[in-house]
Amino acid sequence: MKRRRAPWTPFGARITAVRTRSKRRRLHAAHARPWLAHGLSATDLPIAGLVHRLTHPGLSDLCWAGPEFEWRRVGLVQLIQKSVSDYERGGTQKDEYSTDEVVTVRCPLCGSTGAVRLYREHRSLEIKKCSGCSLIYTSPRVKEPEQTYHGQYERYLTEAKLIFSGRATHHRDPNYREELELLERHRPSRGRLLDVGCNMGMLMRIARERGWRPVGVEPSPALHRIATEQLGLEVHNCLLPELPDSEDRAYDVVALSDVFEHISEPRPFLRAVARFLKPDGILYLKVPNARWNILKQQMLQALGRTPSEGVWDSYEHVVHYDHDSLMRMLAAEGYKARELTVSRPVQVPVWHQYVGQYYQYPSPWVLDWKRHLGRLGFYHLSRLERAVRRGAIGYCAPNLVCVATARR
Ligand SMILES: [Zn+2]
Repeated sequence: MKRRRAPWTPFGARITAVRTRSKRRRLHAAHARPWLAHGLSATDLPIAGLVHRLTHPGLSDLCWAGPEFEWRRVGLVQLIQKSVSDYERGGTQKDEYSTDEVVTVRCPLCGSTGAVRLYREHRSLEIKKCSGCSLIYTSPRVKEPEQTYHGQYERYLTEAKLIFSGRATHHRDPNYREELELLERHRPSRGRLLDVGCNMGMLMRIARERGWRPVGVEPSPALHRIATEQLGLEVHNCLLPELPDSEDRAYDVVALSDVFEHISEPRPFLRAVARFLKPDGILYLKVPNARWNILKQQMLQALGRTPSEGVWDSYEHVVHYDHDSLMRMLAAEGYKARELTVSRPVQVPVWHQYVGQYYQYPSPWVLDWKRHLGRLGFYHLSRLERAVRRGAIGYCAPNLVCVATARR
C-alpha cells in the first residue's frame, strides 16, 4: 500500500489519499482513523463538505440525532465505520430468486401466453413483452410480490424515525406536493382521498396538511402500525377488495401512487377501485415508465455495464406500463383518461452507501450529484420529447402520471 501526503482541507481535517491494491482511491482522514471514510473519492470530500454546508445547514443536527450509530465528524461530512455494500432496510428484497420462488403467468391484460423475453434479472425473473397486446410484464415473477413489504416494524421505524419526531423531511415530499397540486387542479374542493398501498402514510401526511381527508389501505402489518401509531392516520390493514361495504362510493380520489405496477391482477383491481369512487370521483395513477427502463437498460449495455440489481425492480414490479399500454389497460376496464403527464423524478437518498443503513431522509445532492443531474436532465428531455411526439410520452420520462374517471 503506497501512501501520499495530501494538503489540509478547507475544514481542518487532514486527508491522506491511499492507493489500494485495487488502484481505487479511498480516504483516510483525521488523525489516522481509517474507518472514518468510506466510498468518497479524494476530490468528493472537500466539495461535498463545502456545497453541503451551503445547501443543507440542518444536516449536522440530523446526523447527530441518529442514536443508533456512532457519528463522527470529518470536516463537515459525517461518516461512519460500516460496510457500504451491505446495508439494512425494512423490505425483504433479494438479489437472486430460485426457480421454486417464482411462477410463470399469462399476460395480465389480454390473457395471452405468447410473449418475447426482453431481459432477465435477479437470476430467475424475466421481463417479457406480450405477443398479443404488447404489454410488458414480469414472468416468471415472484410468487407473492406484496410480501416484499411485510418487513419488521423496528427496521422500518429506523428508516424514518426523525420524520415522525419532526426533525427531518421525507425525500419524496417534493414529489408528494407535486402529485397533490395536480389532484387539486382536478378537485379544488379537496375531499376524501383513499391512498392505496399507503406504506408509512407519507403522502397522506402531506395531504392532511393541505386540507384533504385521507384514508389509507396497507396490507403490511408493520407499515400499517407505523402509519397509525406514528402519524395518527386512519389506515385499513387489508387489501383493497377487503375494505368494508361502508366505504363504497365514498371517495373523491382513489390514489395509486407507485402502486399499480405492483398489482399482479390489474384488471380485477381496477374494477375494485371503481367500487370506492364517488360517481364523479377520480382515479390517480403514477407508475414507472417502461420505455425509460428500456432506455436505461440499453444505455448501460452500451457502456458495457451490467447493473447487479437490474433496472426493472422485477422482484416487486410485475407489470411495466408505457403510454399506450396504460391507456389500453384503463380503457379495458372502462376508465377514461382526463390527463396523462410526467412528474419530476424521485431523488433516491444514498445514506446507505455511507452509513450502512437505508434512511428515507433526503441526502445531500453532492453525494450523488451525477445521478441527481442525470435524472433531472432526462426529465427535462422528456418534456421536449413529448412536445416532438405531440403529447405522447416516450423514452426519457421517468414515470407516467394519469388522472382518469370511471365510465358508469
Ligand atoms: Zn397481452
